[in-house]
Amino acid sequence: MERIAVFPGSFDPLTLGHVDIIKRGLSVFDRIIIGIGNNAEKKYMFPISEREKWIKKTFENVSRVEVKTYHGLTVDFCKKVNAGFILRGLRNSADFEFEKAIAHMNAAISENIETVFVLSDLKFGALSSSIIRDIIRNGGNPSEFLPEAIKFQP
Ligand code: ADP
Repeated sequence: MERIAVFPGSFDPLTLGHVDIIKRGLSVFDRIIIGIGNNAEKKYMFPISEREKWIKKTFENVSRVEVKTYHGLTVDFCKKVNAGFILRGLRNSADFEFEKAIAHMNAAISENIETVFVLSDLKFGALSSSIIRDIIRNGGNPSEFLPEAIKFQP
């Protein structure tokens, strides 16, 4: 059976840290579906159409990676796309505590979906979308942390 994982997130914006987790995930899974969550309660810096466009461009030549947007529970999205796994990245112990709670809750509400954690590369351990947003807001240049498809004019 094909091993399909959903990599859920906000990707506001996609960083090289996310790209690294996806590449590592491809050594474990046959296909990865990047699920861009759309939460009406959450304020994003970039509209979903732009976040989606950047991710699609970044993975346009990687046939085993797909990009989709979704509303609602991640486990429901997994069922819809026939994914048996949720892929999440871990940078540090704070990520671990946070992710553990989400994974436990997802396991409680859905029996057949396993969360798989992948450790980030050492060089991306301090990188986050929120730091990138801060750099952009303050007129800095975040290019070295972002995929080629995402261009900013500081
Ligand atoms: P969310 O809004 O769900 O936190 P993010 O887009 O911030 O979504 O993150 C999606 C996933 O990518 C999470 O599993 C997060 O831990 C992981 N991640 C984010 N940045 C990095 C990084 N620099 N290295 C490894 N994993 C990362």
